[in-house]
Amino acid sequence: MESIMNDDCLFCKIIAGDIPSNKVYEDDDLYAFRDINPAAPTHVLLIPRKHLSGVTAAGEEDRELLGSLLLAANRIATAEGLAEDGFRYVINNGKHGGQTVYHLHLHIIGGRPLTWPPG
Ligand code: 5GP
Ligand code: ZN
Repeated sequence: MESIMNDDCLFCKIIAGDIPSNKVYEDDDLYAFRDINPAAPTHVLLIPRKHLSGVTAAGEEDRELLGSLLLAANRIATAEGLAEDGFRYVINNGKHGGQTVYHLHLHIIGGRPLTWPPG
């Protein structure tokens, strides 16, 4: 898997270690760390090492990467003790989606009952 870094991207800098983060998981293609402003007792961000500006920037060539992302998320949720009571995955996309960092990331949120629908 190619790792294309974007010099202006906060999460690319976190992957590179230029900005510190609280690592939860990593493999050749993915990196996970704790959200700096957690929305719940457990709030992990799982990102591809490859810079994609959002989920809609993924193409056919990213099919395996997107699959790996969800399967890794499942392992992280289990390792974080969320599997039994449940949890939520969130991918915000674009302005109306509330995306603030334009490097694809999956939020893994749990540790308390979550309300629905979102605001
Ligand atoms: P978005 O709103 O784009 O879906 O989510 C971006 C997330 O990144 C937010 O939940 C925010 O708290 C988190 N975040 C922003 N800057 C940093 C940072 O420097 N370190 C960490 N660990 N999380 C960050
Ligand atoms: Zn990036």
